[in-house]
Amino acid sequence: MEQVNRVILLKLGEVVLKGLNRKNFEKMLTDDLKRRLKKYGNYGILSSQSTIYVTPLDKDSALCIDDAAKECAKVFGVASLCVAAEIDKDLDKILSFIGNYIKSERKGEKTFKVVGKRSDKSFPLTSPELSALCGAKILSANHDMKVDVNNPDMVVYVEVRDYAVYVHASKIHGAGGMPAGSAGKAVLLLSGGIDSPAAGYVCAKRGVSVEALHFDSFPYTSERARQKVIELAEKMCDYCGNISLHIISLTEIQESIKRSCKEDYFTVLLRRFMMRLAEKAARSLGAKAIITGESLGQVASQTMSALTVTNSVLSSDVPVFRPFIAADKEEIVNIARKIGTFDISIQPYEDCCTVFLPKHPVTKPKKDRIEKSESALDVDRLVKNAVASEEIVEIRP
Ligand code: ATP
Ligand code: MG
Repeated sequence: MEQVNRVILLKLGEVVLKGLNRKNFEKMLTDDLKRRLKKYGNYGILSSQSTIYVTPLDKDSALCIDDAAKECAKVFGVASLCVAAEIDKDLDKILSFIGNYIKSERKGEKTFKVVGKRSDKSFPLTSPELSALCGAKILSANHDMKVDVNNPDMVVYVEVRDYAVYVHASKIHGAGGMPAGSAGKAVLLLSGGIDSPAAGYVCAKRGVSVEALHFDSFPYTSERARQKVIELAEKMCDYCGNISLHIISLTEIQESIKRSCKEDYFTVLLRRFMMRLAEKAARSLGAKAIITGESLGQVASQTMSALTVTNSVLSSDVPVFRPFIAADKEEIVNIARKIGTFDISIQPYEDCCTVFLPKHPVTKPKKDRIEKSESALDVDRLVKNAVASEEIVEIRP
């Protein structure tokens, strides 16, 4: 078969619906793309007609193109992608190429259809004419194949675009969402559990750049538990880009609550401190929201009443994003598996939430009673001391 160039075509998702600032979104997307492609060689990047063309610029990069495409599948803002053969806009060349191309691409598929797409209207054949001719050529080179337009095993795309014709037979799902960083910054409350890394990922997918905040409770929680959270952040940054992991000690706060407050209120009181510290972090980092992995009814502190009492310590200008509020555990687990955090999360290390866990946590806390119990504490001083304990670990992809 004649040697042809292979290029990656990235089809943009929601970005194409943007108006005047579409260029800004595309720039963020291509910045992310360039950063990711660096590992795989030298590639030219060109954006045209809602598609980004990634072309290898030397032999080594051409050899790595399938791995580069896998990396491109992590770029937020891309709906789908493919590795396509690039052919001159010449019908004879297309037809002499396509029969053998399918022979080499197919893996046991018996039926196919051709989707011809002529976006360059100066090309002499219409899309249906192009599809029919290519289909006939594929049949004559692959006698055991049949056309099935309704439910084909294989769809062959022949796209006549501005500069060339692109032929491909398998689409890869893109990461979807909005370009990395396009939504601004938020503070993710990152525990060692399953939910919060996945919550960070789904928000990053919508363009949020993530600052992670983890609370530990040394010596009640171990060095190994902290290491687990660092590993989670490392996994996340494969998708989310750079993450600064802020680690704050809750030890003094937890000991004070245990000493001075009603046991049943322990978790709600602790979560109010977490929110106060998250808001402080958000303000000092220029972040506009807080993200948690909470899910309605999952545990006592995630009932409507408990979430309300927790939220009430926050100012109204810092929203809390709880992307899994209405998700079942199984749905969250599926996401955690997909991004590779699940196997780390299920390692059994203690979390600060499990330290001094009450036997009968209140499920319908009343704000006035919680505040009364909390009045035994010097909240401002405890918050100040906790902030002073902050350590930062920079996590890089
Ligand atoms: P799991 O997957 O077991 O539910 P979790 O981390 O979600 O783990 P929860 O008790 O459900 O544990 O906590 C609710 C949310 O509070 C978490 O999703 C996370 O956003 C935040 N959180 C809990 N513990 C911590 C912690 N130690 N540091 C930072 N955030 C925390
Ligand atoms: Mg949870």
